[in-house]
Amino acid sequence: MSWFACPKVGCVRRAPAFGIAVAALVFSGASAAGDETAADTVLRNGYVYTVDPHDSVAQALAIRAGRIVYVGSNEGVKPYVGPATQVQDLQGRMVMPGLIDGHMHPLGGGAARMGCSLDAAPLTTSQFLERIQSCLDASKDQEPAAWLQVSGWCRQVMRPPGTDADAATLAALKTDRPIAVASTDGRTLVANRRALEVAGISKATPDVPDGRIVRDRDGNPTGVFEDGGQRALTAVFPVPSRTDRLKMARAALAAMREQGITSFLDAATSPSSLSAFSAVYKAGELTARAYFAPVIDAKDAAEPAEVVAALRITKALYDTGPLAPAPALTVRNAKIFMDGLLQPPAQTAALFAPYRVDKGRPGAPKWVDGDRTGAPFFAADVLNPLMVALGEAGFEPHIHATGDRAVHQALDAVEVMRNALPDADVRAAIAHAELVDPADYDRFARLDAIPVMSFQWARPGPNSIDGTRDYLGPVRFAHLEPEGSLYAAHARIAYGSDWPVDKLDEWSAIQAGVTRTGDPALGKRYAGRLNSEKPLPRAFALRAITLNAAYELHQDAQTGSLETGKLADLIVLDRNVLKVPPEDIAITRVLMTVVGGSTVYRAAGF
Ligand SMILES: [Zn+2]
Repeated sequence: MSWFACPKVGCVRRAPAFGIAVAALVFSGASAAGDETAADTVLRNGYVYTVDPHDSVAQALAIRAGRIVYVGSNEGVKPYVGPATQVQDLQGRMVMPGLIDGHMHPLGGGAARMGCSLDAAPLTTSQFLERIQSCLDASKDQEPAAWLQVSGWCRQVMRPPGTDADAATLAALKTDRPIAVASTDGRTLVANRRALEVAGISKATPDVPDGRIVRDRDGNPTGVFEDGGQRALTAVFPVPSRTDRLKMARAALAAMREQGITSFLDAATSPSSLSAFSAVYKAGELTARAYFAPVIDAKDAAEPAEVVAALRITKALYDTGPLAPAPALTVRNAKIFMDGLLQPPAQTAALFAPYRVDKGRPGAPKWVDGDRTGAPFFAADVLNPLMVALGEAGFEPHIHATGDRAVHQALDAVEVMRNALPDADVRAAIAHAELVDPADYDRFARLDAIPVMSFQWARPGPNSIDGTRDYLGPVRFAHLEPEGSLYAAHARIAYGSDWPVDKLDEWSAIQAGVTRTGDPALGKRYAGRLNSEKPLPRAFALRAITLNAAYELHQDAQTGSLETGKLADLIVLDRNVLKVPPEDIAITRVLMTVVGGSTVYRAAGF
């Protein structure tokens, strides 16, 4: 397969090999350059990392009408320079294709950027309170009645380990406002007493079957709401206005420009996300190619024809048609949640063998098989015909599958679809795939199922170690986040950040992909690599977040690499991410982001 022609970092052409790479590019690039009209923009004297089939490196690139018209040498680009051409001397800086984020939640991400966020930081109780108090102090005009909604709370990483928060914790804040703090994984809310009053939550509030309203010994709610229990609170949350949603979409796009993201998939699209990004598009302010995957509700899935009809209506309303230089909206994906999460308290990821439980005593743990495995949210006889109907109608499934059993069943469904539609070019993605049965690794390549991985989850940390190791046991834990095994099995891995589950930090995620080591600040417990899974070669990690994600979004013929004829979606970096020490990848700064030939972001001073 051509996309896999150069999987080893060692065959990336370094600077001394310019001649070879350039020769190849001129051959496949613009012919008779002198006959062409001048380019709008020429970038020269750079380290142009193309992500073409050979991972070629060039020196210069020319853009006309939003497309790349030349990739090659400083000498070869000269005929493209006319009187009106903007020529930029890159002084050796690295240029690469714009990043393509194959799984994120941009409206929530934008909200997290705008509002009060704890940024998933490991916090002590006093740091937790200080940060919330500073949000309150910065919005004193909202006293005493307006809600303060705090996001980005990573419950599992509070310091010291085992620290938690509830209404009693929040009582130390100087405010009369109702407060709700949301965990990064969406599974927990913590509210203060004022919030409980406003929501009318008391001892008498009934429990729910699909979650927990945590109570003290006397049955009084403690302010902690898990899973379905959160509805008691969310039901009274203020609904963001249209203006607020537009602000969220704009904030999301600003964050993406700064990170170098030129295309993204909204991996669980809501009508409010579609309408917000559509309004931003109509205002001419969309700065990344936007893809949407409306969620297919499990209760509707047994009627595939109706699912497809609803998707067609959404597409007719919002999809802006074939790709053009200016970024626009595509509705071609459909989201299917096969299961939930591996970590407690949810443990809703569907596994073949049970989650383990600790039957020991404090200080003397004794981990044994429990009786929970988690169950797939779709039965095979519902999922399989749904997949065929989607593929037939030209919609591309984006399946959330975290546990080995959910992944297996998702692969089975892709197989049924491939057999039913042998000639259809359907890009089937399986997002997360945190635990995969080793017998299934090679099915990804065989079935052309794209694992969409969040590399930062392969870092040792409270979530990846404390939330899984003992619960899965050593055999399964050894292959958690199996990027190394999937790479070895020739899977076409794409990257997805899952923002705002984590804060948007693509460069830190790429570093995690190639090191699988964590933040030294987290201490000895989280030192070293997560497990025996191998890190990805650097060139492959970059391919995952460019061309492979472009393939996932079915736009690889037009984006994802810097080749003649493709759209000019590219970024200029402050360092060469192929050459810097791996621990410096995370601090990469994007100096310029170009989408369809237009510069949408330029760092101060560049
Ligand atoms: Zn997600």
